[in-house]
Amino acid sequence: MAPANETPGTKEQVGVDVEAIIIGAGIGGLRALWELRSRGISSKVLEKGSNVGGTWYWNRYPGARTDSESWVYCYSFDKDLLQEWDWKERFPTQSEMQAYLEHVADRHDMRKDITFGVTVTSAIFDENANVWTVTTDAGATYTSRYVVAATGQLGIQHFPVEGVENFKGIAYHSSSWPEEPVSFEGKRVAVIGTGATGIQIIPLVAQEAGSLTVFQRTPNFVMPARNYVLTDTHRAAIKRDYDDVWAKVSEQPFGMAFDPVNRVLGDTEPASRNQVLEAGWEAGGFRYIFETFDDLLTDEECNAAASEFVRNKIRAIVKDPVTAELLCPTDHPVGGKRVPLGHFYYETFNRANVSLVDVNSNPIERFTENGLMTADGELEFDVVIIATGFDAVSGALTHMDVRGRQGLSMKERWADGAESFMGVMVDRFPNFFTILGPQGPFSNNPPVIEHQAEWIGKVITYCEQQGIAAEVSTETVESWYRIAKEAFDSTVLGAGEQAHSWYLGANIPGKAHRILYWFGGSPAYNDMLDRTEEAGFHLIGARQAAPVA
Ligand code: NAP
Repeated sequence: MAPANETPGTKEQVGVDVEAIIIGAGIGGLRALWELRSRGISSKVLEKGSNVGGTWYWNRYPGARTDSESWVYCYSFDKDLLQEWDWKERFPTQSEMQAYLEHVADRHDMRKDITFGVTVTSAIFDENANVWTVTTDAGATYTSRYVVAATGQLGIQHFPVEGVENFKGIAYHSSSWPEEPVSFEGKRVAVIGTGATGIQIIPLVAQEAGSLTVFQRTPNFVMPARNYVLTDTHRAAIKRDYDDVWAKVSEQPFGMAFDPVNRVLGDTEPASRNQVLEAGWEAGGFRYIFETFDDLLTDEECNAAASEFVRNKIRAIVKDPVTAELLCPTDHPVGGKRVPLGHFYYETFNRANVSLVDVNSNPIERFTENGLMTADGELEFDVVIIATGFDAVSGALTHMDVRGRQGLSMKERWADGAESFMGVMVDRFPNFFTILGPQGPFSNNPPVIEHQAEWIGKVITYCEQQGIAAEVSTETVESWYRIAKEAFDSTVLGAGEQAHSWYLGANIPGKAHRILYWFGGSPAYNDMLDRTEEAGFHLIGARQAAPVA
């Protein structure tokens, strides 16, 4: 393929080290590498970790496992692998996911194109030469025509408690957990944060620790995961019907292989509404959200019924009524914050060694030598687990020095809130792509990644053929944001903002709030993304440029 890609108005063509630099070797980076390679685009992956895996490499805290069912939380591009890989459980553990991604990398001989242990510090676009220069913390620089940022949505830690350097015990953020096992035997342990991460950690640590103190700010609606070990029969059925499984994934709004419900609360006899919710609760995982009522996320009455049902479950499970009420979310609708899956989460609060601290009435002030200073006084701990989340979606690129046209940094571009065209391109950053960027679908990630990586591959091929740059206008980005906002406004999820929802940018003090996802369903998103091809992908230089949608 021709190495040169000429921006309109740019005559100079400069050689590059490699046609595409991919940042990150997680699910997105590996898939992008496969896609670009298969199109003959020379690519190099730069990865901070010492191995592939991305989020699954870093998040090796106790209890880490997927919240999507194994048979759809994987790649679909390698049909042989789908038949060969034997998932062990409904929700695979971190180590199983890590083993899977390592296997994919080895199977496709990907490591030869990956440099491990390097952090990309900057990516700077030279408008005259039409070249990106990517620099790592090791001081190496690489030039490329294209950059694909597969930097993940949840990699930049939020660590809101000060003074950790004074603490004499052990303190880990959930996403920088050591590789060797951490013993909690007989220890006084604190967990700060009750998002999807804390909720996976808490039940396991409680079984081992001498005492466990959970610091909660906003209670969540925690669905029982109801994990199970897959039998040979179940695995065989999935493999036999894999085409149907992926067909369901492509039709289900959140990319899960769930059957359509075709039922709304208003059309359901009041007497049977609880039965429907009970069946969803018993089915486990996200099935409560997606296999009960189609209007659960869009109709206030339906959501209120589903929310109250969960609160009643909490009250039934947790024996101490004061603790039960503290665990009941009241400030946001179910789904208003990303729903976590629990593995006997609420049951854990019935243990004698577990206590719950409401940081709204007793805020954490700072670390001390011996533990944490709270408004009510000092609490002593041997281990403090920080499960306080991430500067989500946009953080990876605002913490890196990424500069597009006229030296504009991504931090500046996103100062008023992160926006992109369909999660894949940002205006004024030519030939720069994102995987899982802002306003991409809120959905099971691997199918989204696959769709976006394929699209990026198509766009690069098209640009090479047409001799144009891959660049969208600010108007195109803003137009997509308006469409995404309209979709979001048709849900009941807006109340998540007051509950610090990270998918609204509301969890990081000072971060501009933005709807960071497309909530209109992945089928509609995929369709619109596919249809961009008819309009020259909405690229500025394309001959048939046309308005979005
Ligand atoms: P998170 O959802 O942002 O939760 C962070 C927790 O820390 C919240 O409970 C938050 O309270 C609390 N917190 C933040 N700042 C605090 C402060 N200053 N004082 C006290 N508490 C504070 O982060 P996460 O649990 O790491 O999960 C992030 C996302 O990662 C999930 O939503 C999910 O998408 C993904 N994840 C996925 C899986 C999986 O699929 N298996 C597992 C884990 C995580 P507020 O709620 O009040 O902000």
